[in-house]
Amino acid sequence: MRCPKCNSALDAEYDYKSIQRTILMDEFMRECPNHWKYWAFMPVGDLSRIVTMGEGGTPLIDLTRLLPHAKKFFVKYEAANPTGSFKDRGSALEITKAVIWGRKRAVIASTGNMGSSVAAFAAFARLKSRIIIPEIVAQNKIIQMKAYSAEIELTSGDYAYAMKIAENQVRSDPESFLAGDYPWRCEGTKTVGFEIADQMYWRVPDAVIVPIGNGTLLWSVWKAFRELMITGITDALPRMIGVQAERCGPVVRAWEEQFNTIVPIKDPRTVASAIACGDPIDGLLALKAIRESEGVCMRVTDEEILMARDELGSNGVFVEPSGAVAFAGAKKAGDSLDQKTVVCIATGHGLKDMYGIE
Ligand SMILES: *Cc1c(COP(=O)(O)O)cnc(C)c1O
Repeated sequence: MRCPKCNSALDAEYDYKSIQRTILMDEFMRECPNHWKYWAFMPVGDLSRIVTMGEGGTPLIDLTRLLPHAKKFFVKYEAANPTGSFKDRGSALEITKAVIWGRKRAVIASTGNMGSSVAAFAAFARLKSRIIIPEIVAQNKIIQMKAYSAEIELTSGDYAYAMKIAENQVRSDPESFLAGDYPWRCEGTKTVGFEIADQMYWRVPDAVIVPIGNGTLLWSVWKAFRELMITGITDALPRMIGVQAERCGPVVRAWEEQFNTIVPIKDPRTVASAIACGDPIDGLLALKAIRESEGVCMRVTDEEILMARDELGSNGVFVEPSGAVAFAGAKKAGDSLDQKTVVCIATGHGLKDMYGIE
């Protein structure tokens, strides 16, 4: 599942001419935004076999009052997915693949949300799931995994170490399916980007602000916007703004120092536990997306993250700390967003990790 040369995740390519022929434009334009509407951009041929629990189709909420110098400011509320985070988009596709390939068990390393998401979709599809988690994972997320009857293995190492354990377990068990930030997940996650464009009537925002953990979400959103342009559905690209936590910023460091490699951070700690990925598997792809889109990469402190979380909450939008990272970045980005149309992705539900709320 990784490139033998650079150790990065693999990337899927399509025949876009055939996608253009497949999408019936009238129908495509009329259908409500929802995850499987964009199936032509995913590696599935048989829609009768998809595993779906109604993922995607999440609200794009107008919160321009929270960023008044922007022309328009929207929050894409990914907490509205079946397990409370955007991870369900990738899990729906991964578990679809696992079922089609006749696998019996999904194995995954997770900082929490991906594990609960894979556990839910696996349980729904009648597969077993085994989740390897580092100590940093929020307690509620472990409970959520247990609710979906996942088998849990706690490691004393960090997330990068948990990933190695998962990869090794799958290598020795042909009935298992390795879930995680590998190519299928990115292909499923792209639908966040498709939906944003769709919900804006195919007018592309000036900037999309995204938290970076493994970097998969940022890369997926960028890939989605590129594919919409390649197939002639849209005619512009957004700037990608990536945001990392101060205490776990390997991608932002590479951005600032103009490196072409990511220097891993060992055992990262931040209140935004969902993005505590010290050795991000799609870090280089996220960096590439930011550079290609003429965007920026920035860091926010734990304090700024929690303040952003509280501000969203007091405006009716409850997110976990990682879910507020993009908004914290939007507030910090300052003048550069003046008179721009800005979307930030609120990635996970507040009930998953209520750190510091009394
Ligand atoms: C996974 C996750 C992220 C980070 O996404 P990556 O694809 O790992 O960069 C951010 N916020 C939440 C809530 C997540 O679950």
